[in-house]
Amino acid sequence: MPPKHIFGPVLSRRLGISLGIDLIPYKTCSYNCVYCECGPTTDKTITRQAFFPTHDVTAELRTVLASRPHLDSITLAGSGEPTLSKSVGPVITFVKHNYPEYIMSVLTNGSLMTNRGVRDELALADRVIPTLTSASQETFERIHRPHPSLRIAAIITGMVQFRKMYSGAFWLEVFIIPGVNTTAEELAGLNDAILRINPDQVQLNTLDRPPVEGWVEAATDTELERIRDVLGRSDAGIVSRKPPISHVTKAMTEAGDLIQATLCRRQSTVEDIVRTTGLTGVEVTKILGMLERAGTVTSQRGTCGVFYAICQKNTPNEDS
Ligand code: SF4
Repeated sequence: MPPKHIFGPVLSRRLGISLGIDLIPYKTCSYNCVYCECGPTTDKTITRQAFFPTHDVTAELRTVLASRPHLDSITLAGSGEPTLSKSVGPVITFVKHNYPEYIMSVLTNGSLMTNRGVRDELALADRVIPTLTSASQETFERIHRPHPSLRIAAIITGMVQFRKMYSGAFWLEVFIIPGVNTTAEELAGLNDAILRINPDQVQLNTLDRPPVEGWVEAATDTELERIRDVLGRSDAGIVSRKPPISHVTKAMTEAGDLIQATLCRRQSTVEDIVRTTGLTGVEVTKILGMLERAGTVTSQRGTCGVFYAICQKNTPNEDS
């Protein structure tokens, strides 16, 4: 039986070769972001739950990690907000205890960092990467369409509190939507928040895959560089759209299965799949054609190219 909670490895733009762990039912999230690549949120909640038995996840991890594969990160991510799961702490603890050679990362929208228990569990990880788009409640609501109880001021304070207690790597993702959080006022608010939070790194990110709302546009590299200058963060990273080529996953499974497994988790271009799998462009194109003709895969043209996805398949999000 294929793993239900483990996906990849995928080649992450930020993390390198990343094995994903998804602890959340599809699109269960505290936000419903206009830029989400996984579709609309179907269960908007801030209530932490034991969605799945932790043992199911750790059993899958034992199987997948039995061969001690080369990985740059084991990452809590997926098609919703990981910290909604009560398994976050236990799963991180399991990995760090049994596989201490791996870097344990968490991609989070940061909304539950207001919760002391969540902060304590996240502190067990080696690397925590929350998202910030605005310090303004109005813009926060426009971009994230959050659970009505959420206030960005409290979330920023939660990040500040977490930073003070956390000795691991704290990378803050600042997601840029041109025309929405790129005004002088917005950037001034972001600058103040970043100074308060004091992350180890700021990473400027923008749209890379078809969003939920068609009006959302990607920022150009020039715009991201301008914002980096305005923020006065010459050290801020701009998340590359071109990750390094990897051949590691090539031998992991049959090419068709590998491509489907990749598309089950995220929409991808041919180029993405080539980089993720190590297959050649010709092989990927040929197999995608067969899968498309069989009705297994569908394609859609976006601003960044043609994206392929599994038909009517719920797909978790690595770059949540
Ligand atoms: S982008 Fe992440 S935080 Fe936003 S709705 Fe999608 S899964 Fe939730």
